[in-house]
Amino acid sequence: MKKIRVNVSAGYDVIIGEGLLSAAGEYIKALGGAGKVLLVSDDTVYGLYADIVRKSIEDAGFGVCTFTFPHGECSKNIDTYSRILEKALSDNIARNDIFVALGGGVTGDITGFAAATFKRGVRFVQLPTTLLAAVDASVGGKTAIDLPGGKNQVGAFHQPSLVLCDTLTLNTLPEEQYRSGLAEAVKTAMIADEALFNMIEGADRGQNAEELIAACVDIKRRFVEADERDTGARMMLNFGHTFAHAIEAASGYTVLHGIAVAAGMAIITRSACNRGYCGDDVPARLERVLTKNGLPIDTGYTAEELLPYVYGDKKAQTDHINIVLPRKIGECELRKFGLCEIEELMLDGGIR
Ligand code: MG
Repeated sequence: MKKIRVNVSAGYDVIIGEGLLSAAGEYIKALGGAGKVLLVSDDTVYGLYADIVRKSIEDAGFGVCTFTFPHGECSKNIDTYSRILEKALSDNIARNDIFVALGGGVTGDITGFAAATFKRGVRFVQLPTTLLAAVDASVGGKTAIDLPGGKNQVGAFHQPSLVLCDTLTLNTLPEEQYRSGLAEAVKTAMIADEALFNMIEGADRGQNAEELIAACVDIKRRFVEADERDTGARMMLNFGHTFAHAIEAASGYTVLHGIAVAAGMAIITRSACNRGYCGDDVPARLERVLTKNGLPIDTGYTAEELLPYVYGDKKAQTDHINIVLPRKIGECELRKFGLCEIEELMLDGGIR
C-alpha cells in the first residue's frame, strides 16, 4: 500500500493498494463529522462494486443513499447533475455529509461538481475504478460537466477529501479502458520522469500497478501543488492534449480520451523532433512504448478536419496556443504558437 499526501486546500491523502474498496468505510469514518454518505456510480460500476463499498460504509456506521446513472460521457450533463442534487436533498444529505464517487472519470467529474455546489460545497471522496481516473482524473480537484456545445464547460475547483485507488478494480477494466489510462501514465512519464518511462517500457499489462499509479499521482501532486487553479505550471499536464482534444471532438467522442492522447503525443513529438527541440530517440521510444501497449501513434483525421476543433479548444487564447513540447524523455517545455502555425505543426507531426 502507498500513501501520498496532496497539500492543496485542506490537504488530502491518495491511498493506493489492493482491496481498499472493502475498507472504504473505515477510511471515510476517519475523516470525521459525517453521518450520511451519498454513493454515486454508473450502472456498470454499480453492478460490480457498489455492494462491497456500501457494506463497508454501512459497517462503519453511516447511513448510505445511492444514486446511479447510465454509464458514458453522454451522462455528464446538467440533467444528471441536477438529479444528483435532488437526490441529495430528498435524502437529507447535510453540509457535513459526504459524497462518494465510485467509478471512472465521468463519475468523479460529475459527483465532484455536485459536491462543490450542493449547499455551497460538501466534501467528496473519490474511489477511482479505472486506470485513467487513478493516474490522472481523481487527483487535482477539477470537476465539471459538459454542455451540448463543449466538454467540461461548467465546473469548479473542488479538491476531494480522500482518494482510495483499489488496484483490484483494474482486473475488471476492459482492455481499451486500460490502454486509455496507460496513455496518461506515459504522458506523465514524458513530462517529468524518465525512470517511470523506463518502468512502463519494461512492464506487461497489470504489472507494477501500485507503483505505476503511485508514481503518476506523485508527479501530478507536484504540478497541482505548484498551481492549484491551473494557470501556469499545470499546463505541462496537457502534453499531447491539444491534438487529442481535437481528435476526440472530431470523432464525436467515440475515441477514448487516453487513446486520443496517445496519438496526440506521438504527433507533437515527431513535430518537435522535426524542428530540433528533441533528438530522434524521443519519438522512437515514445512510439515503441505506445505501439507495444496497443495505442495509436497516428490519426486518420486530416489537418483540415482537426483544425476547427483546435481553434475552438477552450485552451486557445485569442491569437496563440500554448503547446507542450518534449525536450527529452522526462522533460518538456511550454511554447506559444500562433494560430497560423498550428497547421504546420500538425503537418510536421505526420498528419495529412
Ligand atoms: Mg487527460
